[in-house]
Formats: sequence, structure tokens, C-alpha cells
Amino acid sequence: MEYSPEIFLSHIAQTTGSPFLISIERAEGVYLYGPDGKKYMDLISGIGVSNIGHGHPKVIKAITDQVHKHLHVMVFGEYIQRTPNLLAKKLNTLLPSSLDCSYFVNSGTEANEGALKLAKRYTGRTEIISCRKSYHGSTHGSLSVSGNEVKKQKFRPLLPDVRFIEFNNPEDLLAITERTACVIMETIQGDAGVRIPSKTYMKAVRKRCDETGTLLILDEIQCGMGRTGTLFAFEQFDIVPDILTLAKAFGGGLPIGAFISSKKIMQVFTENPALGHITTFGGNPVCCASALATLEVIEEEKLLHQVESKGKLIQKLLTHPKIKEVRRAGLMFAFDFDSPETVNNIVNYTKEHGVICYWFLSHPNSFRIAPPLTITEEEITVACKVIVDAIEQS
Ligand code: PMP
Repeated sequence: MEYSPEIFLSHIAQTTGSPFLISIERAEGVYLYGPDGKKYMDLISGIGVSNIGHGHPKVIKAITDQVHKHLHVMVFGEYIQRTPNLLAKKLNTLLPSSLDCSYFVNSGTEANEGALKLAKRYTGRTEIISCRKSYHGSTHGSLSVSGNEVKKQKFRPLLPDVRFIEFNNPEDLLAITERTACVIMETIQGDAGVRIPSKTYMKAVRKRCDETGTLLILDEIQCGMGRTGTLFAFEQFDIVPDILTLAKAFGGGLPIGAFISSKKIMQVFTENPALGHITTFGGNPVCCASALATLEVIEEEKLLHQVESKGKLIQKLLTHPKIKEVRRAGLMFAFDFDSPETVNNIVNYTKEHGVICYWFLSHPNSFRIAPPLTITEEEITVACKVIVDAIEQS
């Protein structure tokens, strides 16, 4: 009954015609366990969430301690609560000084919604520039600035005054003008199949935004939180955004997002109109406790230092003539094949053999892996053997 596929298929909204349909009873470290005793290695971290592994004891303790003190007590921005305060201060110590003011929300898409509103309100401009093939979320505003046309068509009309440029193409940057409120881009495009821009390009984006008074929003919802080897991916490009958005791994397994900017910019939400962005559950104390503990674990366990060597090991072990191209940023991978069918065969084979790999939203010829940063070399070796077998039989 509890794990009945009939209940799942009939009474839980379905988002695809072919859900993954494995049953999970508990999860620990890199492993997911089914009620039937099946064990899976989670090589996708629940899509970019479990960067410190599932159910880290320090996170569980922080959540439990907070649960015993209080759950929700008030909407965002009114009461002084311990865990949101500590989390905001922690972020303040980890981020460049211009990113000193955090607005906590509930998800990635809401973080981007808040960031877009903030940019429009601060600049008094309406035009938004985004990149083709980007993914920023599924609510109306974030969907409007996402680049996958197929996913948008049936939901129009969407936000007006949104223009798209090609990611990593400096020639397109002249599209950014004094009319542009903001440019929103993923520092590394995730669902387009791990697209890594050049440092020169990112610096040129920053420069063009400065020239035109346009705010730069970097979406690190997928590539942030140590995934690429630095806590934030933008650190590798020698630039600082005006607004940074986080979610997914930020919460260590509980739902929380944030858009982070300067006090000066964020201040525009307080008047004319006041309550420029509001949320009931944003900054939920239990989620903040989890996020804070997650940041502490990344630091204490020195996880960032291990990302590059583990990434290189996977790249070394996952070689096969059928792989057309590999794109990697730290522990974020896309493997390209000749066709979506080959990719399906591989993903299904690894699932049957206890290793979870997955597709990308906008790039059907690749599969993704992005394991917890805590994965060990032994676990990497076991997982890569299964994937190579899968490629061999695909
Ligand atoms: N931005 C990026 C880069 C993402 O990868 C995602 C989720 N895949 C989102 C935004 C949306 O986050 P959420 O699903 O939490 O709304």
C-alpha cells in the first residue's frame, strides 16, 4: 500500500508519461534504499541537491534541535529568529562584500522570480536579457526567461520584454543596453548539458552590464554549493554578480532558496510599494538550520578540495569509444552519445543495476551525473564500472 504504484500514478500528479518509478524507503550518504531491500547509488544527488550526501548526521541534528525549539512562527522579514540570522551572517562571511543581504525563499524558481523583480524595481527598467538553452524554473517569470521554447509555447502569454542571446557568444553582448534591467544567466548552464563559458566571456558580460547600468543575476541553483570545486562557481571567473540565486543543494535536503544582493539594492523592496516581495515560508527556521549545517559540513569536511580529484577520477574511468563528448565542471558531468535512444538504454541499464544516472531537460543526447561531493574513490570505481557496462550494451 505505502509504495503502491497505483496510488502514485492515480493520485499524485504526473509530470511525464514515464516516471522513474523506483520506491525509496530511506537514504544515507550516496545510497538510496528501497522497501524491498534494493540499494541504489545516487549519482545525481536528487538532481543537484544532496551535495553533502543524504541524511548527513550534522544536518539531521541541526534540524532536530530547531524542530524542538520552534517551527514557523511568522512570515519572512518580521520577527528576529536565530537560524535565519545565523545563516545570513554565515553567507555574509563566505560571499564578496557586495553580496551582503539575503532574501530567503522556498525554491529555485522563487529565488529567480525575486531576483527579476528586484532588478526591475531597482533600475526602473523593464527589459530582461537571458540566454538561449537556459533553465531558470517553471513558474511564469522564470519560465519566461528560460530558453527552451518547446517548454514555453503552450503557456504564453509570458513576461513581455524578454530577449535572448547566445550563451558564451561575446558578439551578442551589444544587445545589453541602457534599456536592460538585468541579464540573468546560469554561471554554468546545467540543463543545457553542462555548458561552461570562457572566463573572457563572463568578464565581458560583467563589463557590458557595468557600462549600461544593468544588473547581472547569476543563477547558481544547480552549479553552486561546491558542485564545481569552489563554493560558488562565479569565483572561478573573477567576477561578482549583482544578484546571486541559490536553492537545491543550499538547503541540504530541505526546501530553501535565496536571492542575495547588496543592502542598497535590496532596500528598494521596503518602500513604494512596501513589501515589494513577500513570502510566508521564506526563511523557515528549520530549513535555515539545515542550510547552515550544510555550509558548515562543506567547510569542516573540506569537501571543496576533493571535487577536482574525484571529478578527474570519474573522467578517467568513464571512457568509451561510444562517448562523443564529455563536459565537466568539478563533479558536474554531461556525456554525449549518438542518440537519445542510446542515452535511454544507458540510464535504464544503470537503474536496473543499482546506479542512478539521469537525463537533461534540454539535451536528450546526453546523460548527467553529479554525485554527492562526499562520494568515495571506491564508490566511484564501482559506479563507473556499471556505467561502462551500460554503455557497452547500449
Ligand atoms: N535554475 C536552475 C539553474 C536550475 O537547475 C533549476 C532546477 N533544475 C531552477 C533554477 C529551478 O529550481 P526549482 O526547481 O527549485 O524551482
